[in-house]
Amino acid sequence: MKIANSTTEYAGLRTALDGLAAPRVVYVPTMGALHDGHRSLIKLAKSLGEVIVVSIFVNPLQFGPGEDYARYPRRLEDDLQVCEADGVDIVFVPSVSDLYPAGRQVTVDAGALGSILEGASRPGHFNGVLTVVLKLFNIIRPHVAILGEKDAQQLACIRRMVMDLNLTIEIVGAPIVREPDGLALSSRNIFLSASERAVARSLSAALEKAATQASVSAARAAAYEVLDRAEAEPSFELDYAAIVNPSTFAEVPEDHVGLATFVVAARVGSTRLIDNTTINFAPAPWT
Ligand code: AMP
Repeated sequence: MKIANSTTEYAGLRTALDGLAAPRVVYVPTMGALHDGHRSLIKLAKSLGEVIVVSIFVNPLQFGPGEDYARYPRRLEDDLQVCEADGVDIVFVPSVSDLYPAGRQVTVDAGALGSILEGASRPGHFNGVLTVVLKLFNIIRPHVAILGEKDAQQLACIRRMVMDLNLTIEIVGAPIVREPDGLALSSRNIFLSASERAVARSLSAALEKAATQASVSAARAAAYEVLDRAEAEPSFELDYAAIVNPSTFAEVPEDHVGLATFVVAARVGSTRLIDNTTINFAPAPWT
């Protein structure tokens, strides 16, 4: 496994690849503190190409003032061991000054999709995400990039950017990996106390209940039954719960038929958690 600590070092490795018999380069962007969710992306990457690149970069541009940039877990040594064990070929670990040298000015605007729901709660977040992802795509030059469905709106923004800016990279979404009780794995879960961890389960529990319902209103009601109970706990504060179009993230109408994404976000103690599930609303049966 090769480790590149700067853009220049990576460029050297990447140029060497161009001399080989056109290997498919598959890329997994991460912020590190790798868990089984990340590992599932690496596993999927290995099934899709020959050269697996993982980046580890906690991107300051996507954290707002007062968010958890400073305390975000950083565990590079452990992460490198995970990458080595999982058969990653190149780990790219740039520094902040390498990716954001003084004098930089141009950023990506995520548009309307980037300013609703998660984007409304975290202004500028998706502009920061798209800016770093575009930079990383240009540096790494992969054929395929794997992104987790855990961050559904992020995945939609990246797909939108690929379309709108004519990128030639293929984007593959990977299913959410969960704890046995349903909680979606996240690098932030380590911040949860035992009692917060118990109430954090409400997010996936609400989605699970919603997913078995036949209509948008029934799904919303089933989810709120769980979420209202969680809100009785002082540590739990719901941010949003919405049933949206999987591409535009606009709320679907009450009579919606077909696929929709149920997205939820909540603060549990000092930790912000997000989750989502896909629901296929069937047409009403003929009477
Ligand atoms: P992060 O390190 O949180 O930026 O995540 C890096 C990538 O891993 C993103 O594409 C995430 O959507 C994905 N990811 C994070 N948690 C999970 C999970 N529980 N299951 C699947 N993918 C995940």
